[in-house]
Amino acid sequence: MIAGIIIGALLQWLFDDSGDFSFSVFGLHVSTYALLVEGIFNVVGSIFIASLKMLVVPLVFVSLVCGTSSLSDPSKLGRLGGKSILLYVATTAIAISLAVSFALLVAPGDGLNLTSESTYVAKEAPSLGQVIINMMPTNPINAMAEGNMLQIIVFSVFFGIAMSMTGDAGKRLTAVFEDLSTVVMKLVTILMNLAPYGVFVLMAKLFATIGFDTIASLLKYFLLVVFVLFVHAFVSYPIILKVLSGLSPLILIRKMRDAALFAFSTSSSSATLPITLETAIKKLGVKRTVASFTVPLGSTINMDGTAIMQGVATVFIAQVYSVDLSLSDYMMVILTATLASIGTAGVPGVGLIMLAMVLQQVNLPVEGIALIIGVDRLLDMTRTAVNVTGDCMVACIVAKSENELDLDIYNDPDAGKKDE
Ligand code: ASP
Repeated sequence: MIAGIIIGALLQWLFDDSGDFSFSVFGLHVSTYALLVEGIFNVVGSIFIASLKMLVVPLVFVSLVCGTSSLSDPSKLGRLGGKSILLYVATTAIAISLAVSFALLVAPGDGLNLTSESTYVAKEAPSLGQVIINMMPTNPINAMAEGNMLQIIVFSVFFGIAMSMTGDAGKRLTAVFEDLSTVVMKLVTILMNLAPYGVFVLMAKLFATIGFDTIASLLKYFLLVVFVLFVHAFVSYPIILKVLSGLSPLILIRKMRDAALFAFSTSSSSATLPITLETAIKKLGVKRTVASFTVPLGSTINMDGTAIMQGVATVFIAQVYSVDLSLSDYMMVILTATLASIGTAGVPGVGLIMLAMVLQQVNLPVEGIALIIGVDRLLDMTRTAVNVTGDCMVACIVAKSENELDLDIYNDPDAGKKDE
């Protein structure tokens, strides 16, 4: 990753200062910048992300069916769901409360007189009722084709439960799904081995094209979001994990490195899902029954990092537009941001759509988003790393409380490294 950042930054600096180096091959005029950045880095990086996404739907379907069909007690599923959702919502509420408090303390937008050069057109956000209705797939094949995670989860759970109730037929199918699961996991492992190259290319492309000038004018906002993200990842998570499960937070943080790196370079919890799931099962020792349910659910409904950006951004925009928000407005911000994270999938940039919902709730101008959009790319990467860390943390807590955590794997520093 570091190599990618350096190469990318170097490319940007070289081409900014001295123009492009062009050369001719067989009479063809080739620009080095276009060849490297728009050509090789772009193509290889896009293929890498596509190959991650390719595994998401088969992986979730197959492992969730395996997980639920092996449940001896179906009421356990209700408990798992209840605990996971409660923890996801609670950690998101903590995240945004932290963000709003720090932003009020630091006042990143005070005295700034920014005008937006571009306009931001808010997309329509679904209501909570609609989100719940939308969870029910009318056509599972369509849900898979569209990658609608909540619908895939619902269908897989029903399918798995039915399998566990069907005697011999269910048993035969379980064996098939177990084999499928092994094969799909193998694909994930192969991809993980290619990861360093993928991450390198993505970083090099990003740092060759990123505009650092915007960051300078929004430095206070940018740094504050990054600071609160770090506080949440390195202070809140360790405390929550220790208090609720007694597990060592240091181990979790160390083992999350790969998944966080993927999240950082792809800016997408959904695309990172294969790696997050592999980390939860193989490195952290969360049994598949819990991991296959809790982690995909988290990649859709749990976005603590995103909530942090929204908290800081709301206060920032209110300050820039000199709007005074009351305590009840801030409560509204916390509530809306928490609910918004449930209804939107973990893909790059979705946080801004959620922010539009939050701003509308408290009557702040949605165009304010145009002010911060310039620095959102880097923040998106950082907050996605926090989002996936939160998913794994909750999976560990739920697994521990259900006696579904293999402590030997959790405590083994080399677990998941040596792969068959
Ligand atoms: N990119 C984030 C994620 O996938 C969502 C966002 O903050 O835009 O988790």
